[in-house]
Amino acid sequence: MIIQLESKIKTKDKQLILKSIAAINHKPTEVKTQAGNYLVCIGKADFDIRLIGSLPGVLDVHRVSESYKLVSKKWKVGYSHVDLGGGIKIGAAQKTIMAGPCSIESEEQVEKIVTHLKLNGIKVMRGGVFKPRSSPYAFRGLGIDGLKMFYRICKKNGIKIITEVMQVSQIKEMYDYVDVFQVGARNSQNFNLLDELGKVDKSILLKRGMSGTIDELLQSAEYVFSNGNEKLILCERGIRTYENAYRNTFDINAIAVLKEKSHLPVIADPSHGIGVREHVAAIGLASLIAGADGVIYEVHQCPEEAASDGQQTLNFDESAAFVKKINLLTNYN
Ligand code: PEP
Ligand code: MN
Repeated sequence: MIIQLESKIKTKDKQLILKSIAAINHKPTEVKTQAGNYLVCIGKADFDIRLIGSLPGVLDVHRVSESYKLVSKKWKVGYSHVDLGGGIKIGAAQKTIMAGPCSIESEEQVEKIVTHLKLNGIKVMRGGVFKPRSSPYAFRGLGIDGLKMFYRICKKNGIKIITEVMQVSQIKEMYDYVDVFQVGARNSQNFNLLDELGKVDKSILLKRGMSGTIDELLQSAEYVFSNGNEKLILCERGIRTYENAYRNTFDINAIAVLKEKSHLPVIADPSHGIGVREHVAAIGLASLIAGADGVIYEVHQCPEEAASDGQQTLNFDESAAFVKKINLLTNYN
């Protein structure tokens, strides 16, 4: 059960609510987010929810039986959206396009990609400076100096940035140079990181773990939300299966099911989802038809020379053609 409290609830009203929760053997956890004040209650006993709903100080109350609560659509019936400013609202009526290289490599690279994004009406650039790599000898990113350069060029051009944070200690140093923190597949269940990102007043894009279930993704999202951050976006990026004809199996079912189970915006990552450049656009378009609120994909001025993930990265012509198709599809809808 979730109880939303009045923001300036009187102490005696809150005490009565807590007493009533104890009387039905439920255990409350108080959650304060940027937007609301909630009591998330766990318990088995059946009870008449009207007894809680009619108490003074209660704004709203819903029974949510799933292990995830505040991110559930049973709690918030409509869809939520994440506002990045500058007219970019992820999860509102518009489809959001985020694109950029797998890794930020140089000033020249960022300038070239920014120009490409602007030419194609893309307002959010992706790019990692802290890169999780399977091999410790592979390029692991330019680090914080690279992030400052990336942010400076994008800000000058009116572009928002999304970049991956890999550990708790990076949050503070990255904070001023990030519009959206990305939590990568490998950190999807790094609960300490999720806890800390819940205390931050910045948007979070949370990717599904490589072998994560939909339930696990939503429980990870609940970690961020229940720590206070409602600015959350879910991302399907493919899962590892027995199929090895491509890098990952993009789970298009997950898009439709996440939109059914959660009110949070859902973004599709077809680049990591299939891992094969030739098919990225087709899978991206399919994910929009399945209900995704937008796509995030990899683009580079010369994918063959990219420091990471070149095999799944679009060149500028392929990227422009993809955007054209997204726009046709979105206008058609
Ligand atoms: C990335 O976005 O470049 C990345 C490493 O993604 P994922 O965490 O989905 O593998
Ligand atoms: Mn990548």
